[in-house]
Amino acid sequence: MNKKPFVTLEQLEEITKTYPTPFYLYDEKGIRENAKALKEAFSWNPGYKEYFAVKATPNPFLINILREYGCGCDCSSMTELMLSHEIGVTGEDIMFSSNDTPAEEFAYAAEIGAIINLDDFTHIDFLEKTIGYIPETISCRFNPGGIFQISNDIMDNPGDAKYGMTEEQLFDAYRILREKGAKHFGLHAFLASNTVTNEYYPMLAKVLFELAVRLKKETGADIRFINLSGGIGIPYRPDQEANDIRIIGEGVRRVYEEVLVPAGMGDVAIYTELGRFMMGPYGCLVTKAIHEKHTYKEYIGVDACAVNLMRPAMYGAYHHITVMGKEDAPCDHVYDVTGSLCENNDKFAIDRPLPKIDKGDLLVIHDTGAHGYAMGYNYNGKLKSAELLLKEDGGVQLIRRAETPKDYFATFDCFDIIKGLV
Ligand SMILES: *Cc1c(COP(=O)(O)O)cnc(C)c1O
Repeated sequence: MNKKPFVTLEQLEEITKTYPTPFYLYDEKGIRENAKALKEAFSWNPGYKEYFAVKATPNPFLINILREYGCGCDCSSMTELMLSHEIGVTGEDIMFSSNDTPAEEFAYAAEIGAIINLDDFTHIDFLEKTIGYIPETISCRFNPGGIFQISNDIMDNPGDAKYGMTEEQLFDAYRILREKGAKHFGLHAFLASNTVTNEYYPMLAKVLFELAVRLKKETGADIRFINLSGGIGIPYRPDQEANDIRIIGEGVRRVYEEVLVPAGMGDVAIYTELGRFMMGPYGCLVTKAIHEKHTYKEYIGVDACAVNLMRPAMYGAYHHITVMGKEDAPCDHVYDVTGSLCENNDKFAIDRPLPKIDKGDLLVIHDTGAHGYAMGYNYNGKLKSAELLLKEDGGVQLIRRAETPKDYFATFDCFDIIKGLV
């Protein structure tokens, strides 16, 4: 598949007159169309709700677009809870799926009425001691251990993951939570990340639905929702085929009819906590080639670095790159595309065949709309970029300004020595 940017060179030339590179650009049209398709794919389930995984793209402007399609927020930390609450997401429209959770975060989540999803058996006690009661609605996270596979393909390795409770712990947790006053239950699991197959959700659904039937039978718990969490992936590479959310929704429906309905559980709501699938393809990092270096390899130095996008450095992740204006030129050069960190893994691409790049060329780094900006950091004193929204009408809106040195030095404001800088 030919991966095409959602923005043209002409548009970028116009945008860069106002906003210097590097910056993140998001595609309102793409975000809307995808959110609508997700909603439709699960419309067979009356209680269905997507809780957008805020950690993927914690920008209120983007989250507000998703809210128009009925999405809530899935939070993993205090500031994500604060952000969601601040923009008016309330009560059970907030899911708190966290792990190794600090007491003050449980306390705040309870205060704003979020649904708490317990990662561990010991958190029952910890939560009760922290807030003084067990909420009426509560969820537990399951980890089946072992490896999770679809036919012969290993999807991921839950047995190696720090998250969730064993099956035995889960049954005990439901019993104890009931004794302590919980009335309505949720069941959650996240067993594989960035799956590019339509089979992951239906397979996960089968595991969770069958477990839910047994949990209900053996503990008497009223199971209100099953949370399939995140994990639906996107095709980062041009040779990958995108998931079809309609097929995924239909696959989950079939398992629902097969397992839950006959067990008298045809009123259970399906929840999802997608992050990558909601935003990944609808954001890109725009950067400019500023240097060319010929040593033992050919390097193109750009004005973005791993601080702006950590995934290649952290996971060796592939992000497709388009050299704007050279879409149809032959990829007859092989480059390492690097940032300026004093860190040799600061490379957006290694040995990548690309058209000849000239200084001043604009590069679009694809599929950075989720886990992109959000993972940024400040190593080497580098500053985070701006985030811009390409509106449906073609206009551009600044949805987060770039950091300035003042932001970087702000945490020294208590020291006289640095006063001049802040
Ligand atoms: C990260 C995360 C998600 C979102 O994952 P994606 O791969 O972006 O869909 C959802 N739920 C939990 C608990 C997470 O940690």
